[in-house]
Amino acid sequence: MDNKIKLMMVLITLSFALSSCSVEEADVIIHNATVHTLDELNSKAEAIAIKNGKIIAIGPEHEIMNKYYAPNTIDAQKGGVFPGFIDGHAHLTGFAKGKLEVSLVGTASFEEVLERCKNFNPVVEHEWLIGRGWDQNDWNIKQFPDNVTLSELFPDKPVMLTRIDGHAALLNKKALEIAGFTVDTKIQGGKLLKKNGELTGVILDNAIEEVKKHIPDYTYEQKKKAFIEAQNELLSYGLTGVHDAGISQEDLAFFKKLEEEDILKINIYAMLSVTTENIDELQNFTPYESKHISVKSVKLYADGALGSRGACLLQPYADDTTNYGFLLYPISFLDSVAQICYEKKIQLCTHCIGDSANRVMLNIYKKYLQKPNDRRWRIEHAQVIHPDDRVIFNGVTVIPSVQPTHATSDKPWVESRLGKNRLNEAYAYRSLWEQNKLIALGTDFPVEHPNPLYTFYSAVFRKNFFVKNDKPFAPEEALTPLQTLKGMTIWNAIASFSEQSKGSLEVGKDADLVILNYDLLQAEESIMEKTEVLYTFVNGESVFKK
Ligand SMILES: [Zn+2]
Repeated sequence: MDNKIKLMMVLITLSFALSSCSVEEADVIIHNATVHTLDELNSKAEAIAIKNGKIIAIGPEHEIMNKYYAPNTIDAQKGGVFPGFIDGHAHLTGFAKGKLEVSLVGTASFEEVLERCKNFNPVVEHEWLIGRGWDQNDWNIKQFPDNVTLSELFPDKPVMLTRIDGHAALLNKKALEIAGFTVDTKIQGGKLLKKNGELTGVILDNAIEEVKKHIPDYTYEQKKKAFIEAQNELLSYGLTGVHDAGISQEDLAFFKKLEEEDILKINIYAMLSVTTENIDELQNFTPYESKHISVKSVKLYADGALGSRGACLLQPYADDTTNYGFLLYPISFLDSVAQICYEKKIQLCTHCIGDSANRVMLNIYKKYLQKPNDRRWRIEHAQVIHPDDRVIFNGVTVIPSVQPTHATSDKPWVESRLGKNRLNEAYAYRSLWEQNKLIALGTDFPVEHPNPLYTFYSAVFRKNFFVKNDKPFAPEEALTPLQTLKGMTIWNAIASFSEQSKGSLEVGKDADLVILNYDLLQAEESIMEKTEVLYTFVNGESVFKK
């Protein structure tokens, strides 16, 4: 043989030997993908290698494919790969419970509400009939209902039907009786509506909390069944994490038990609810951290919601000119919670809808926080904010946590509540983002649909996906597709102190990711029809596959 050929063969053998011994084993490889890492440089990549739940390599196709081998190799066929979506504000137990209750979302009339209650066939038997999700603004008669027909339909079974925002509920006579409500009942931070000197059955805010005390809880097994169903649904939307905006100690114990039984797959960043009744818990607050659960923050409610005119405004409602709404607690109480949170280094997340509630709370924040600070205190909803008050978000680095689908769902009636002149104050996401170049995005599910693609659509196009030929609402307040995706991932990680391990696709971080059949950043209006979730991974484990 020619010496030259001999030499070449030796070289080829040698290079094969070298390359094969440098091949490393991974658990999963995702390749042929359009990977948006959402790291600081918004780098793109084509392939990812995952081992022991972490991302061990990310880069060009040839680099990853030459270096790694994995028993599970997924060809993404050029589809979009993103960090797992995180919902920045939701109610997980409420959503799971919804699987046991009659859904009244999307009812076109009060008659339809009654119809759904009559036909409801529960998964588990319960003493009460619980429903949720009606909105009188969707009905032809846009007024609060009364309980006359409901009480006739259900004379012996107590019924509570909560409004979509959770701030109003309709009770039948049996339920009012069990709660001990009469025309003379007075409740701080709550209201019992009356007509001709009689209770209509509609109650607001803290009155609902009173009623809840009389409703027997579901058993662990019932709740577990509902949770599994709910979790599977969330994972199928590409959600890998949820910020639960208000849990009780019982909810936390429930999550811990689910984790013990290896049922919990989704990551939960939970805010402990604080009220006048459990303020002692706040004094003894200890953070909690496990594989899937993190508790470092508390949730405080400053006011109610716009739909039920419970949001606290600086000027009266345009469609109820003596009504300003109301704060749920005295300012001194709101202030004392902030003080404890400041002293004990707890993250404070406060529900503020009206411009008065926002002003009160932002000024309380300003009293305790300096600039710069890394407390990451949040305003949940940040829905109606006087333009003069926006600068406080930047002034003391407060994170606005908003729900883009609220803007597009509320659009049909929000002008009647606020009037034309105040509309520029509402759902001003772009202006809020400007403050710290950061905004946390969520859905408030079960108030809105949990699918984060609707959030993307509403934030970018400012239209309601469910309304045909919808006109955009204040399009100048739209977020860009990239801002929106960051708001659904890395900025939510920052808002929950978890950006070291979550929120972007980088070596060393948790392998929480979603594979779509489409690159969302193309951001065409037809994304909703085009986009499908193919896989969801949490900690390197495939938890959903289409
Ligand atoms: Zn909420």
